[in-house]
Amino acid sequence: MQDLVNLKQDEYSFRKLENLSTEKLGKIIDLSGAVLPKGHYGLVNRDCSDSFFDFNAITNDPHLLNGITNELIGWIRSNIEHIDVVLSPVTAGRILAYDIVREFNGDMKSRTAYAGVDEFGAVLNNLTMASRIETGEKVLLCTDIATTGKGLRSLEKIATDYKGNIVGLVGFAVRSEQAREVENKIVEENNILSKFLIDFFWNHFPRPCEMCAADVPRVEPAGGLKVQTIFRKDIVEALELV
Ligand SMILES: [Zn+2]
Repeated sequence: MQDLVNLKQDEYSFRKLENLSTEKLGKIIDLSGAVLPKGHYGLVNRDCSDSFFDFNAITNDPHLLNGITNELIGWIRSNIEHIDVVLSPVTAGRILAYDIVREFNGDMKSRTAYAGVDEFGAVLNNLTMASRIETGEKVLLCTDIATTGKGLRSLEKIATDYKGNIVGLVGFAVRSEQAREVENKIVEENNILSKFLIDFFWNHFPRPCEMCAADVPRVEPAGGLKVQTIFRKDIVEALELV
């Protein structure tokens, strides 16, 4: 691993990649500006962390997202026979889910379904009103970043409550040991495979953390971040997409 922007080599590890090179994934992360500088961040589970990855910075630019989606699609095509529904939370993960479904339409006839989130962005155990999962449908669980793994369990619960058949788990990143354990358990208990692109070795702390105690202003990710990625020709060229 190499140092990336705001990300030291001992803070992350790329998983096995098939279509995307590690250099290109590093470039996507760097160009997006998704790894925020060290600070005081509120996580969706109400813990605090000094590190934050803003997946919106990637989904805001289809050229950046394309590299991530293609890697997941390649893996899904080799490992999962059919998908009826891609289920994700209504976070930035919904755009990843949509991008996967859009790629599949034509041969898989898949659609999306979304889980609601609370005001902090934590995944709820219910579908949004416009979403549905029918009995026996093949459901792919999809998220952007698994923080503690609790959101993954909510997606699993929704699919199970609707009597769907869970066929896999995909996402961009897993940011804690705790979330990796949940990922492994879901894989084992449902007899499925999972695919994420990157592990972060970041900590999170219950509130009030030391920075809360020192009155360091806390940035709340749910609606609080102001990262705006606009279409940038230099990004497209740097990724050799033109
Ligand atoms: Zn704090």
